[in-house]
Amino acid sequence: MNFDWEGLLRLVANHLYSEKKVFIRELIQNAHDGIRRRARNDAGFGRIDIETRPQDLEITVRDNGIGMNDEDLIHYLSSIGKSFTRLQQENTEGLIGQFGIGFLSAFVVARRVQVRTRKLNEEQGWLWENDGSKEYRLTPCEVSAPGTTVIVSLQGEEDRGLIQESEVRNLIRKYADMLTVPIHLNGGSEPENTMHMPWEKAGITEGELRFDLHAYLTKTMSDSVLEAIPVRLNEPVRVEGVLYISRTRLVNIDQPRTVRVFQNRMFLCENAADVLPTWARFVNGVINTPDLTPTAARDNFIRDEAAGRLSAALGDVIIRHLEGLRQSDPERFTDIIRYHRLGFLAACYYYDAFFEKFAHLLLWRTNDRVPGRADTGLPKPAEVLRTLPEIIADIPRDEGEPVRLACFTTASTASQYFDVANAAGRVVVDASYPFESELLEAYTRLPDVRLELVHVDREDDPGFFSPPDAEENQQVLGLAETMSLVLRTPAGAGIRVEAKRFKPVDIAAVLRSDAVTRAQQKAEEVRLDPNVSDDLREMAEELTRMTAHQSRRLTINADNSLIRRLARHDLNSPDVRELMLGVYNNAILANQELITKQDAAIFHHQFQDLIAKGLELLEVREELLASQERMRREEERRRPTQRARHRIFFMITPFADRYTPLISACRRVVEERWKAQLIVASDQHADHRLLENVESLMSQAHGFLAEITHANPNVMFELGAAFAERHRRPFALLREQSQSPDLPADLRSLLYIDYTLDAADLDGHLNQELRKNTQIRELIDGAGWDSYVSPAKLRSIIPINLQQSVIERLATRFPTAEDWARATREDVAAILGKGDEDFADAILNRTQHKL
Ligand code: ADP
Ligand code: MG
Repeated sequence: MNFDWEGLLRLVANHLYSEKKVFIRELIQNAHDGIRRRARNDAGFGRIDIETRPQDLEITVRDNGIGMNDEDLIHYLSSIGKSFTRLQQENTEGLIGQFGIGFLSAFVVARRVQVRTRKLNEEQGWLWENDGSKEYRLTPCEVSAPGTTVIVSLQGEEDRGLIQESEVRNLIRKYADMLTVPIHLNGGSEPENTMHMPWEKAGITEGELRFDLHAYLTKTMSDSVLEAIPVRLNEPVRVEGVLYISRTRLVNIDQPRTVRVFQNRMFLCENAADVLPTWARFVNGVINTPDLTPTAARDNFIRDEAAGRLSAALGDVIIRHLEGLRQSDPERFTDIIRYHRLGFLAACYYYDAFFEKFAHLLLWRTNDRVPGRADTGLPKPAEVLRTLPEIIADIPRDEGEPVRLACFTTASTASQYFDVANAAGRVVVDASYPFESELLEAYTRLPDVRLELVHVDREDDPGFFSPPDAEENQQVLGLAETMSLVLRTPAGAGIRVEAKRFKPVDIAAVLRSDAVTRAQQKAEEVRLDPNVSDDLREMAEELTRMTAHQSRRLTINADNSLIRRLARHDLNSPDVRELMLGVYNNAILANQELITKQDAAIFHHQFQDLIAKGLELLEVREELLASQERMRREEERRRPTQRARHRIFFMITPFADRYTPLISACRRVVEERWKAQLIVASDQHADHRLLENVESLMSQAHGFLAEITHANPNVMFELGAAFAERHRRPFALLREQSQSPDLPADLRSLLYIDYTLDAADLDGHLNQELRKNTQIRELIDGAGWDSYVSPAKLRSIIPINLQQSVIERLATRFPTAEDWARATREDVAAILGKGDEDFADAILNRTQHKL
């Protein structure tokens, strides 16, 4: 058989390599292998130098490797498909070349390729030249040291960009970063490649390793690192490197991933779909392995048995790392799982292989079993994240029986169950997030797991919800019945309401759901299927609508005081029905996940109504208090006072000055002779402005004096008022002699006292006449009364010249001699004005002495 040079070159150029620049990679690979073969056991030996001369369209790759003699040049370099390197692989570690076509790639871009080389331990050097054809020239020449120099002269200007220094530097870093031979570019003193990877460092602690890996990944990878996982395996495949859990959260389970694969330390590919098991979507990394077989283009690997073993082994490394983390740093483990919660759940859900490995590490939200958390004022019962084995280990079980694990799985139930479970001293697992309900079911089917689930959101587990006693809870059961009729969801469907007893008693109601029926499930499937007929879909939609709220039920707490109080009211009253809706809304509010837009609108309106009702209630209460106060005052006014311990006479006279002498005479008789108080109605007019005030004074009086000579209308009015509340109190009517008033008939039977203003002894006359009335006489002579001390009397005994207003205040505060006897220095000082309080002792001394 023969081959066509032109055709082969076209094939290599256009169909094998996807990019022209890889010819540089191939030259580096050859130089590297040459050095490896010369050094064999000396990893520190050798150096590659690359020079770029874009202006001359030339690039040189030089090595001090094993070199070639004329035979090598003829048999290997010039023979396409023949690789000496491959033959050497058995006795030299780390050789990369194996196909014998890499060198050919130079001709994709070259006008001419020159190779100057001298084989180790030989004197003769050789120049090999080819101008891009089947023919080459081989001539002996002088080469100063063993090694090989390859000079590639480009065909045309259009490829000049390929050999720009920066381009070549990038290429070295991408493909040859891990090669242990230093590569220098354009005489640079530092090699361009890193050569030794952080996971290869010997004698460092785990912490230092973690730090180095983080730093390395941060520098080389485009996404950021949540947790680095070192990889170092000899069995069942040889692989080393670092994987990491990405900080990028996945919304789609089939995200492209970034795992950089190096084969024998030379870059092969990244984003290969199946380097890792399919479930490990959240993992990226850098790995190096000698066990993968590259494709001829060296941009991918052959899916052989070793590739399968590699991916399985890396999967195990990830799981083992997470297991270790759960042991050594549970908090960090929790943070990581929480961060990628959905990713882990989805991986478990879609990949059985992962679930089997990972199920015991999945974290579930569960209650912390601290009862009475409601008292602490925390907004939400605290949840803890635990693995199922940990949760199950804590549940008491009967010998030989499966463990019963309480859970709730529907999103329409909520954190309220944590409260309920805490109060009942039970454990409950929240499996309401996507995938969780299915995964929890799947867990019960795992080998060696004996677990029974109790769905507290739809089953009536007596540990959580117990039936109320029908006799004792008649009203509450009636309430539940009425609420079933009253409650309508926004969609118009009814809510089933039932009464149960559950703890804590301060929860009035919880929303629970029944299992979705098979019919509902089927209807939902049909509804979403794009291929079903319109008729069928319409039917399914109707069914879905009809049953949408059937699965919700409101469980009211027969032990809750709000519920019990509500049940005692008239269940037909619109206000009470409004409150029933409130109970339902409140149950929804306890579960934020449930709130729909319509719900929110309803809450808003109901809350406003509630505010309005609250305000009404406030106003009614204020009104009530005001009217109570009015009633109290009214009553007080009506009740003849028992408070005064001294006698009081109330005198009604016209305003006219004419009667001043009469008033003075009466005052002297009443206050000085009788030791009683005289209140004059006309005095009160000056400041009373209120009829009420006069009325209240009248109600306290023990007897009345009235000047009626001219039947003055004011006098008659007050006299009439006093008469109406007479209560068998004595009345004395005074009239001027020789005047003859025209008096109303029913006054005629009363005591009339005639007087003259200029009488010689008016006081004596009045005293004598008044005492003629038995009632008055008994009042005056009766025992047990305190002696009144008038302001005038006070002024006369107090040595100090006090202001009249102070005198009056003292007289009001201490109206009787007995009051003065009890008075203290502080009492008196409090009444005296500023500057006078020092007189308190003197005043007390005098009054107590004189009275
Ligand atoms: P491969 O690298 O896959 O073996 P190549 O076509 O790149 O294939 O090279 C063919 C052969 O030429 C190599 O096997 C090797 O024997 C020889 N060769 C090429 N470059 C060098 C070099 N720089 N030093 C020593 N031998 C080389
Ligand atoms: Mg090669």
